[in-house]
Amino acid sequence: MQETARKRLQQAERVTVLTGAGISAESGVPTFRGAGGLWEGFRPEELATPEAYARDPEKVWRWYAWRYQQVMEAEPNEAHYLLARLEEEKGNGFLLVTQNVDGLHHRAGSRRLLELHGSITRARCERCGHRQPLPPPDEFEPPPYCERCGSRMRPDVVWFGEFLDADLLARAERAFMTSEVALVIGTSAVVEPAASLGRLAKAAGAYLIEINPEATPLTPLADLSLRAGAAAGLRWLLE
Ligand code: NAD
Ligand code: ZN
Repeated sequence: MQETARKRLQQAERVTVLTGAGISAESGVPTFRGAGGLWEGFRPEELATPEAYARDPEKVWRWYAWRYQQVMEAEPNEAHYLLARLEEEKGNGFLLVTQNVDGLHHRAGSRRLLELHGSITRARCERCGHRQPLPPPDEFEPPPYCERCGSRMRPDVVWFGEFLDADLLARAERAFMTSEVALVIGTSAVVEPAASLGRLAKAAGAYLIEINPEATPLTPLADLSLRAGAAAGLRWLLE
C-alpha cells in the first residue's frame, strides 16, 4: 500500500495539497491550541473576529503585529521546501491550498498557492479593498494606511464568522475534484469548508494521502494515512 502511494504520486500529473497549522509546527509557529498560542491571556476567538476589531482595532492590530513578528522570526521547514519542489516537478497540474496565514509556503517558494484564510504578512484596505504587504516587523507601526486611498487597513485574514473568498474556494474545490492524488497535511480536518476538500477529491476518484501524527476524521477515508510529522512523511513519500 505504501509503495502504491509513492508510485501514484510520482506518476500523477494533477496533484493537490491541503495544509494546516501542523506543517508549520516544526518551524516553531504555535498552533492555536498549543502553549504559545495565547497572547496576554486572550484566546484567538476573542481577537480574531470582526466584532473585536470594531470594538478595539488597536488591540487587535497589536496582536497581529506580535504574530507577524513571530512568523517572520520563523523559517520555512523541510516540509514547506519539499512542497515547493513538488510544484516544480508537476508544473501546471499542481495546486497547494493552505489554511495557514503565516506566509511560510510563499517564503519557501510555492507560487501555485491559494491562501484560503489570507496572510498575516499583508493588510487589506477597509475602504477600497487594496492589499499590500506589511513593512518589515521592526519598522511596522500599526495600523497601516492604504497607499491608494489613505484609509485605515485591517489584517488580510479571514476572521471567525466571516466568509472565505468564494472565488478562491471554488478554484480549490475544482482542483481537488479533478486531481489524481490529493495530499492532506497537518490539519485536524474539522474546520469547514477546507475540511471537505479531501473528501471531495476522494469522492471524485482521487488517491487520498494524509500526513498527521494523530488520527483525524479524514483518516478512515484515506487510501494511506501516515502517522508522521509533515517533514518526515513528505521525505518518505517523495524520496
Ligand atoms: P488545525 O486544526 O489545522 O490542527 C493542527 C493539526 O496538525 C493537528 O491535527 C495535529 O495533529 C497536526 N500536527 C501537529 N504537529 C504536526 C507535525 N509536526 N506535522 C504534521 N501535522 C502535525 O490547527 P489549529 O491550530 O487548530 O488551527 C485552526 C485554524 O487556525 C486553522 O485555520 C489554522 O490554519 C489556523 N492557524 C494557522 C496557523 C499558521 O498559520 N501557522 C497557526 C495557528 C492556527
Ligand atoms: Zn484603500
